[in-house]
Amino acid sequence: MALSRACDPPADARGRGAPAVFLDKDGTLLHDVPYNVDPARLRLRADAGPALALLRRNGYRLVLVSNQAGVALGRFDEAALPPLWRALGEALAPWGVALDGVYYCPHHPKGCVPAYTRHCDCRKPAPGLLQRAALELGLDLARSWFIGDILDDVEAGRRAGCRTVLLDVGSETEWISTPMRHPDHVVASLTEAAFTLLADEALRVAPEGVAEQPQWTG
Ligand SMILES: [Mg+2]
Ligand SMILES: [Zn+2]
Repeated sequence: MALSRACDPPADARGRGAPAVFLDKDGTLLHDVPYNVDPARLRLRADAGPALALLRRNGYRLVLVSNQAGVALGRFDEAALPPLWRALGEALAPWGVALDGVYYCPHHPKGCVPAYTRHCDCRKPAPGLLQRAALELGLDLARSWFIGDILDDVEAGRRAGCRTVLLDVGSETEWISTPMRHPDHVVASLTEAAFTLLADEALRVAPEGVAEQPQWTG
């Protein structure tokens, strides 16, 4: 279930796909209002626009990846979602930011709407939405990141081969920890998430022709 827009072609001279930052919606880009599909109640985090603009200026595609189990659970109709995506786009527009894609899972294994009640490969922590986005948008998952506010986001990112940032704002309550659920970084804001992943990349990437990169072991 994807609502994607055309994005720039992959710009990498070596033929690799573009790097992306995948973003969870509820509790990450937006303050969490459970099962909300009312555009009027959408509340973007205060630093979402500037943080996304910074990532976009640094060459990252921006892709929303969201579980929308409310469809399977009968809380709202799937047709209620496009107006929400439009409102989100309008909220980000003042920062010159547009999402390159919106991918969501409408399923739930214990739903009550038969058409959406099933196990699927796209409900996080499964990596299906990220893999589909990579295919459709020409993304390089190994150079991409997932920012989310719970460990299911971290696991989905890691299972897709991305690096991960946990926005620790109190959303995660169970802390079921497995190796796949260890984020690369834990931060307190989207601004910190953006700076942290850019700094990580800056320390990681060696210039063309340089075989060794410095290893900080201290
Ligand atoms: Mg969330
Ligand atoms: Zn699904």
